[in-house]
Amino acid sequence: MAEPQIVDVVVVGLGVGGEEVAGRLAEAGLSVVGVERSLVGGECPYWGCIPSKMMIRAANAIAEARRVDGLAGTAQVRPDWAPVAKRIREEATDTWDDRAAVDRFVGKGGRFVRGSGRLDGPGRVRVGDQVFQARHGIVLGTGTRPSVPPVDGLADTPYWTNHQAIEVEELPESLLVLGGGAIGLELAQVFARFGVRVTVVEALDRVLAVEEPEASEVAAAALRADGVKIHTGVTAERVDHDGRRFTLHAGGTAYTADRLLVVTGRRAHLDELGLDSVGVRADQRYLAVDDRLRVTDGIWAVGDVTGEGAFTHVAMYQAGIVVADLLDHFRRAGSTPDASGTASVTGGAMGAASTHAVSGSSGSAGTVPRADYRALPRVTFTDPEVGAVGLTEQQARQRGINVQVGTAQLGSSTRGWIHRADGFVKLVADADQGVLVGGTSVGPAGGEVLSALAVAVHAAVPLAQLRHMIYAYPTFHRAISEALRELR
Ligand SMILES: Cc1cc2nc3c(=O)[nH]c(=O)nc-3n(C[C@H](O)[C@H](O)[C@H](O)COP(=O)(O)OP(=O)(O)OC[C@H]3O[C@@H](n4cnc5c(N)ncnc54)[C@H](O)[C@@H]3O)c2cc1C
Repeated sequence: MAEPQIVDVVVVGLGVGGEEVAGRLAEAGLSVVGVERSLVGGECPYWGCIPSKMMIRAANAIAEARRVDGLAGTAQVRPDWAPVAKRIREEATDTWDDRAAVDRFVGKGGRFVRGSGRLDGPGRVRVGDQVFQARHGIVLGTGTRPSVPPVDGLADTPYWTNHQAIEVEELPESLLVLGGGAIGLELAQVFARFGVRVTVVEALDRVLAVEEPEASEVAAAALRADGVKIHTGVTAERVDHDGRRFTLHAGGTAYTADRLLVVTGRRAHLDELGLDSVGVRADQRYLAVDDRLRVTDGIWAVGDVTGEGAFTHVAMYQAGIVVADLLDHFRRAGSTPDASGTASVTGGAMGAASTHAVSGSSGSAGTVPRADYRALPRVTFTDPEVGAVGLTEQQARQRGINVQVGTAQLGSSTRGWIHRADGFVKLVADADQGVLVGGTSVGPAGGEVLSALAVAVHAAVPLAQLRHMIYAYPTFHRAISEALRELR
């Protein structure tokens, strides 16, 4: 067995969360080994947020050009996927090459190891035939993979996940999308706008089922207007592939298409991580963490694997807490960086990490921020966008909150009327506390309007103060003032 190599921290999985933690700790002067088996950066830059938003930007340009008719003359649009595929290949992913990201990490003083990491007893990580012993901590940022439902025949077919959908160079004529959540709807609308005949099949009784029912209605209507066929309350029973086309049997109907995209959620694969070697159960859905992202003594987790919200902004937020907690831990242990370290722990090269815990603090645990997901924002980048923060009306009622709800339609606001926009702002208030506990903004800039609602929920701004605020005219966000008046 190889002699363990002693380091300060080992980070397993360099997706958004792991890369941020590993980079910032390395910059702070700790000796950090970052282990990644695929691409440094993870799903977001290569198969997730960034390329999908490039696709959406292009698809929205087509939709906007089509709106010229009746508003500003006539415009003819001939969609072409080639520039989109090229932009994803060349600008977003560097042809799915992470050399720049690896160099960035190494440039910060980190040591990069390509391979699959697995816990091998307390403080130890094994990667192939190398073993690392972490003096101060191990961080698991191993993310999730697509969760593929156990539908008869599906596993034997060449179905797409988000990877193939993002990498596609030539669009199919028709596409079945299994799953009507955020990712399914975003991609369905993009492909439909480029002329693909798209059918969405969702088992629940509405698309975007985690959001307000009104948001599901607007999103479904928008996709239908783009030609997408949506079937809800339909459970997939069997999938066949005849070498050319897919047939999905569901609810007594056979749906056929050239391609089948499966986007029915994501799953953490805890069984591969050697958790039993440190006394942590591997049969959980996600890695349970406390509010400092600790899994157990000496092990932290960050990002999707924690199940606290599968968003890049959650991974980044958690990374800040993990960095602060680990540096706090490091200081308390009275450690100094390795000779190979690039900076002193109390020195100025700690960057953003220093604002959290170490710089200017005596290292008391009270300075480490605790994770708080009350104001978790999320955006589905369909057109119109669906932005939401905090609790939905139903969630608030289930928690026994004395709920007040106020809704304003964008169409009855001046800007919405001028824009001919579909959408609304819906507020969910705790009448006893006099604050918002949730909000949804659907519209052409629903994700941007959301920021005001996120501040209100996060800072628990009193409703009286929100009502007394001046809302610029004529903006989409002015619908918030109207929704406040409707609260009852
Ligand atoms: C199509 C799509 C669109 C999305 N759009 C958005 C969006 O608009 N906004 C948003 O906020 N979020 C979006 N997301 C979600 C976002 O991509 C994730 O929340 C984010 O990538 C999570 O980061 P992570 O670090 O937790 O995990 P990941 O990005 O999944 O990274 C985990 C990494 O760990 C590696 N790994 C796993 N196990 C091991 C091991 N044992 N050893 C070594 N390496 C390992 C994996 O190879 C991977 O690189 C989207 C996702 C998809 C699929």
